Amino acid sequence: MAENNRCAGIVGGGIGGLTAAIALRAAGWEVTVYEQAAEFTEVDAGVMLTANVLAGLDLIGVGEPIRAEAMADHIGGLRNRRGRELVLGRVRDVLGGDDLVVVHRADLIAVLVGALPSECLRPGSRVIRVDASGDIETAEGTVQFDLVVAADGIHSLTRRHVWPELRGVRHTGITGWRWIVDAPPPDWVGLVFGHRAEFGILPMTGNRIYAFAGTHTGIDGLDHFKNWPHPVPDMVAAADPQRVLENELLDIRVPKSLARGRVALIGDAAHGMHPTLGQGAGMTIEDAVTLAAYAPDLAAYSRARRRRVALISWLSGHATLVSEPKSRFVDAVRDAIACLVPNRLAIPAGKLGTKLLITGWRPPPIPTEPPWPVNAHDQGSQR
Ligand SMILES: Cc1cc2nc3c(=O)[nH]c(=O)nc-3n(C[C@H](O)[C@H](O)[C@H](O)COP(=O)(O)OP(=O)(O)OC[C@H]3O[C@@H](n4cnc5c(N)ncnc54)[C@H](O)[C@@H]3O)c2cc1C
Repeated sequence: MAENNRCAGIVGGGIGGLTAAIALRAAGWEVTVYEQAAEFTEVDAGVMLTANVLAGLDLIGVGEPIRAEAMADHIGGLRNRRGRELVLGRVRDVLGGDDLVVVHRADLIAVLVGALPSECLRPGSRVIRVDASGDIETAEGTVQFDLVVAADGIHSLTRRHVWPELRGVRHTGITGWRWIVDAPPPDWVGLVFGHRAEFGILPMTGNRIYAFAGTHTGIDGLDHFKNWPHPVPDMVAAADPQRVLENELLDIRVPKSLARGRVALIGDAAHGMHPTLGQGAGMTIEDAVTLAAYAPDLAAYSRARRRRVALISWLSGHATLVSEPKSRFVDAVRDAIACLVPNRLAIPAGKLGTKLLITGWRPPPIPTEPPWPVNAHDQGSQR
């Protein structure tokens, strides 16, 4: 298969695998995406994408249909459990800056699949073994690739096979619920912070609302939120039990290197993180386009990504301490600080901080003529 050192096998056809496939093709690679599910799709929930992510999608030519889902000028922000406004303004400004999109996950996957020729895609193909020399094994047999992209999510088989010394997922003790409400957004949208719990309401296009909630264990189901401030009870009442997704939130430790031999880790396989900052898919998309910029120099890919994903992963884990504090004291300190700073200062300061840390990232250019010939086999990076 590998006549020209440009054949990439991608394990997993979620947001990461499909984005990597488009980006690697732009850099001149032949790609094969193995997806265990019978079709390429995603769960019935939204995903928030910020300017850094949209820049990555623009680079590979799929930004436009996703930007069509941009959030309009809704009013909202951050409230506490008692309904006190902590930050109030245009919710886009409060949450992530001007470029903010909340897209249905299945719509995002459909756009990515639409940018790939069907001959690249192998739905219904579960990968059963991967090794650092580039072998991917399925029930159909084994194929050797010049590059293997591990995009198989937080329970990644590839990570287990190629990084056997790493520990598996960590349990956070937080239960998350997500659902879509088919109704126009309420008069206030944003995040409500409680004691050991938080609730989010994000407007989507097409008269839909993306609602989500998280609680530490020991709190019973969505009934916990029935007495929270308006409009939370309305969102709970509108939740169709058939459409509510419930998971325990998990995370994993970011390895010292995101590459070994011919294998590169991307997305949740590399850095599954708390969703508090809404950057898991974002980092995944950043990884995918960066990989295409550096491959086959996987050591360079890892250097370009590791520090950033470790930082965002750490921040996501610790942001939960502010949004769902276990201590009422932290709760009170957070509220006091938020109320002391007027919105006209808090919002621009928050935007600037978010830009410096997260949304200001821009993708490296993807070379259309990669630095061939490179011996990918010798280039593989070490831990
Ligand atoms: C509650 C919650 C809310 C979130 N909200 C946001 C948000 O607002 N914004 C944001 O940026 N991120 C968010 N995230 C994070 C985001 O969903 C993930 O980071 C992102 O989906 C990771 O994509 P991925 O492609 O790496 O992995 P996955 O989406 O897990 O995809 C992995 C794919 O690999 C396939 N696969 C697995 N094993 C095999 C195998 N052996 N063979 C073949 N195929 C295989 C799977 O079927 C799957 O399709 C949230 C996460 C959660 C849990």
